[in-house]
Amino acid sequence: MGDTRLSPARRAADRARLADEVVDVLVVGGGLSGAWVALDAAVRGLAVGLLEAHDWAAGSSGRPAVLLSRAGTPVRTALRERSRLLRTAAPHLVRPVPLVCPRPTPALSDVLARGLPPPRPLSRRAALAAVPALRPGLAAGALRRWDAQVDGARLTLAVVRTAAGYGARVLTRARVTGLLRAGDAVIGAQVADRTDGSALPVRARSVVLAIGADGGGLSGAVPAHPVVQVVLPRSAVDGRDDGLVLPVAGGALTVVPAGERWVVSHPGPDLPALLGALERALVRPVPASAVVAARVDRLPRGDGVSTRAPGLVVLAGGPATARGRAADAVDAATANLPGVPPSRTAHLPLVGAHRWADVRDRAPQLAADAELPLAAVGRLLQRHGDRVADVLDLVRADPRLGRPLSGAPGWLAAEVVHAVTAEGALSLDDVLARRTPLSGADPAEVAALVAGPLGWDAARAAREVASAG
Ligand SMILES: Cc1cc2nc3c(=O)[nH]c(=O)nc-3n(C[C@H](O)[C@H](O)[C@H](O)COP(=O)(O)OP(=O)(O)OC[C@H]3O[C@@H](n4cnc5c(N)ncnc54)[C@H](O)[C@@H]3O)c2cc1C
Repeated sequence: MGDTRLSPARRAADRARLADEVVDVLVVGGGLSGAWVALDAAVRGLAVGLLEAHDWAAGSSGRPAVLLSRAGTPVRTALRERSRLLRTAAPHLVRPVPLVCPRPTPALSDVLARGLPPPRPLSRRAALAAVPALRPGLAAGALRRWDAQVDGARLTLAVVRTAAGYGARVLTRARVTGLLRAGDAVIGAQVADRTDGSALPVRARSVVLAIGADGGGLSGAVPAHPVVQVVLPRSAVDGRDDGLVLPVAGGALTVVPAGERWVVSHPGPDLPALLGALERALVRPVPASAVVAARVDRLPRGDGVSTRAPGLVVLAGGPATARGRAADAVDAATANLPGVPPSRTAHLPLVGAHRWADVRDRAPQLAADAELPLAAVGRLLQRHGDRVADVLDLVRADPRLGRPLSGAPGWLAAEVVHAVTAEGALSLDDVLARRTPLSGADPAEVAALVAGPLGWDAARAAREVASAG
């Protein structure tokens, strides 16, 4: 694998190449689905372009605490892919999470659980010990199930960076405004480069639309249903390491621990409905004033791949089905190209995972060498895997970058610099929302750190801070 760093220089080089060449597969949409398509095609040795209108995982893939086996995903597929992510693809990013399920519904996953502890019935007392906030009336007959949880933006970024390492040309701030056609066939896309307003026609043998439920003005958007998600401080719900899953009309109320926060999801677009469901589940209601952040996503309904015209494939997939659907999409997109090998992503480690077994237990040594607290290096390992050295090198070159961010003590200043020099962030929002999510980092401090590497003057930095506020 080649260089996986997504720097401003890499973006410029990839843009220049896309203007010149005809790629085999042009992927539109830099969410989890599009990222896997780009990786699948690049690993097969194809020439690939990946275009994203905003930032990697700016759509529904960027939710901070994604559970990998949501109901609705085919169970066997979800469990197999979850196990792949946990063991091979991204063991540093994906974490087992216990979930207390009052009123559990029977699930095939209970019989088939792979790579995680099997489900266990909990006594009333044990359920209340795991989630003291739970209404006692809900505690009898509860089950503890295990799932795997991941920061959706970080997983998507790992897939994009791995694709870039296999030679994919990857651009954010590149909105596809229309498709190029020759008769019925699609032969590329018209792209607006949002960094400078220029137009960029990109020629391709086939185009794959992975634009999620948003659609971005194109007709490949997939049907979707809304889900509201809020972030709460840990103090808002009395709990420990377990999350909570409670069936509600239209789906489930989920309360998932994510560092110093809880991430709560509820079907539908309404915050009051979410707070009402919490009130019915918990002893102490959560006031609206406790909500740190709220968002409504439109999650695709069902997944699949379809060929809409010669040279045009559309796909949708969930976090656990995205890899397999991507392989199907590349098969469909290259059906008329001779000599294309089959998918090779089933056992592929993503960036950060290749030497995970070698580094996972080295936190004490790395902390001593870098003169950083052990806990800080532990967190770096969980976010960067075997690429932790890239962040530590920044600290070695400038020890001031080893300081924690004010307001976000779980993050180092070096990670902010790394976000713009290696993780493709181009704006303050990219860093705050998707490279340091839930951190509470101070926008002005982050802007001061990224201004140099991104070439911002004082006026640009001030504009970014104002729009983040
Ligand atoms: C079967 C299934 C199961 C699921 N299971 C789960 C689960 O277990 N847990 C869970 O949390 N979620 C689940 N989900 C939801 C899932 O996480 C999201 O639906 C998924 O991340 C969507 O990824 P995506 O790449 O298709 O879309 P998105 O993440 O929305 O990405 C689309 C991207 O396309 C870009 N784009 C749009 N238009 C253009 C344009 N014109 N030019 C360039 N770029 C453009 C957007 O900016 C966006 O970044 C599931 C979904 C399905 C379908």
